[in-house]
This record gives sequence, structure tokens and C-alpha cells, in this order.
Amino acid sequence: MSANVEEARQQIRAAFAEVAHPGEGTIGHCGRCHHEADVQIVEAVEGWPALSTSALHGLSLAFFSPEGFRFVLPALMLHVLTVWNSDDPAVDSTVWGLGPAVLWDRAATENEGPLPEGQSPAEATAVWYSKVRVLTTEQRGAVMSFLGALAALAESDEYLREDAQKALNWWKTWTPDEPAA
Ligand SMILES: [Zn+2]
Repeated sequence: MSANVEEARQQIRAAFAEVAHPGEGTIGHCGRCHHEADVQIVEAVEGWPALSTSALHGLSLAFFSPEGFRFVLPALMLHVLTVWNSDDPAVDSTVWGLGPAVLWDRAATENEGPLPEGQSPAEATAVWYSKVRVLTTEQRGAVMSFLGALAALAESDEYLREDAQKALNWWKTWTPDEPAA
């Protein structure tokens, strides 16, 4: 395993070490998302390190509230660094879930998310900003390490590499002080 992957893993674990379960009934994006089977599995664990590979398989950040997003994100990033070279849909949906709206255009065209059903791109953008704003500076740093490590790992996977790189470029310039969209 390359050095930057191990470094990204350590940064993720450190930056999200104190993130506790936000509380019963708070992790879903909305009532409907909350009752999705995938979300219920996340709801049931005490801490994010307890999320298993099978619980994380196919999980999409789009289903979560800002507090749920912050809770599940470290587990998903660690998971993706392991399974990036598989057909697990969590790989693309995590990168899209961390990407600016520019990544969603292609995702929406290909009709495979991560826009939740019934949400316009403008609504989804507002929801997305409400999520990324809850991260601390250290957590944003961990996200950038994750995207950088993933882009390096995915050298031979053109789409994944480009999406990770695009998302990384966005995180490098964005600060939470900027107005949304
Ligand atoms: Zn929802």
C-alpha cells in the first residue's frame, strides 16, 4: 500500500475520531431516506468504526442529513480506499457525494445518482452545501487526503481518477465562508 493511502487513512481516523452517533432519527436526509434499509443499518451502530464492509457496500452519501453525513463519511472513505477497484457503487457515489455539482451533471445524465429522486439540481446543491459546511478544517483536510490518495490509486481508471481530481480541486479552493452555490 502506498504511503499516501496510509497517511490518508490515519488522517481520516484522527479527524473523525470524536464524531459520535448524532442520535436516533437524525441521520437520514428526510423521513423517507431515514427508512431506507441502508440508512437503518447505519442508524443501528454505536460508532462509525463499527460499520462493516457489507453495511458500507453500495451506500450513498445522498441519503444522509448533515449530521448523518459527517458520521458515515469517515467509514465510507476508509472503505473506498480498500474497494476502489471493485464494482461497489459506494466508490462512485462517495466521490460524487464529495464533488461539486459539476460532477453531478454526468451522474444525472447516466441516471445513476447521486441526485435523490424528486430533487432538482438546485435543491440538491443546497442540500449538499448544508452537508459540507458541517465539517471542521481538520475534517476537510482528511477529505482532501482521501481524494488525493484515491486519484493516485486510480491511475488506470480514467473516470474515477478525473472525478476524484475534480472534487479535490474544488475542496482546495472552497472555504465554508463562501455563500452557497
Ligand atoms: Zn431524503
